Amino acid sequence: MQILDGTLVSAHIKEQIKQDVIDWQAAGGKKPHLAAILVGNNPASEAYVGSKVKSCESLGFDSTLLRFGPEITEQELVDEVNKLNADDAVDGILVQLPLPRHISSDLIINTISPEKDVDGFHPISQGKMMLGQPTFLPATPYGIMLLLEHYGINIDGMHCVVIGRSNIVGTPMTILLSRNTNPGNATVTLCHSRTKNLKELALQADLIVAAIGKPFFVTADMVKPGAIVIDVGINRIDDATKKSGSRLVGDVDYDNVAPLCSYITPVPKGVGPMTICGLMKNTLQAAKQKAVKG
Ligand code: NAD
Repeated sequence: MQILDGTLVSAHIKEQIKQDVIDWQAAGGKKPHLAAILVGNNPASEAYVGSKVKSCESLGFDSTLLRFGPEITEQELVDEVNKLNADDAVDGILVQLPLPRHISSDLIINTISPEKDVDGFHPISQGKMMLGQPTFLPATPYGIMLLLEHYGINIDGMHCVVIGRSNIVGTPMTILLSRNTNPGNATVTLCHSRTKNLKELALQADLIVAAIGKPFFVTADMVKPGAIVIDVGINRIDDATKKSGSRLVGDVDYDNVAPLCSYITPVPKGVGPMTICGLMKNTLQAAKQKAVKG
């Protein structure tokens, strides 16, 4: 069994991005600039946005973090996104999800200018991805593809089972795995909360992507020996042995599943850092495209 080390691979990719930014600036380009919007005070969202902003700094990007209280109205948030759309100094915009219930995530995502949609959630980005056209890929599935590519894992003709059908992870994952690219060319089954024979389907998988949000959901009796397991889940569970009283786990029962696998991503230090890589690559791309368009 080999661990797919997202921290190691992301450090490697970040070095490349850093050099790319230096070269870009030496050629007269301006620093890529990511603007992030954080609404409310969800501790997990705070942590995610914090690490994205920190990554910007370490790569030589500019970043702006706009914080709003949970009482901000939908219209006010739309106006803030529109201000960033119109701001020439901003290359990429991300709105940290989830948003408070009174704000429609769809509306806010649809408001982001597709040229600045570095999370790849806008319908134009998702539509282009569907069609195999160049676009910003959703950061988490993009990061997973970069991870597979880095380890030279050939998934051509494999049966991949993706568990979870969200618009930001599970569904786009199925598209990327099945595209005629390398890595790609897999046969994909998408499982979700209404899937009846999930265990039987998972057992047929050469590669499982778990994106459910339920700790230890994928158990050893669901995994074929030699399978590749990608664990997207981030769940906080109580753990009295930890100072904080809790710890992060994925959607996979790692201790029992890992010995069966050919490759597996740990949680943390697996998919999480790769998501940030996907976001950073998209932001650099946005800056370059903007410069070309003028
Ligand atoms: P989501 O809640 O939007 O979607 C969960 C999906 O799981 C749904 O499509 C649902 O159909 C499916 N599901 C729920 N119960 C199920 C069941 N019993 N059987 C089969 N399918 C079931 O979640 P999401 O935004 O896709 O995120 C999933 C997990 O990944 C969460 O833990 C989230 O925190 C994590 N996540 C991690 C990263 C990262 O960078 N590592 C990025 C995004 C999300």
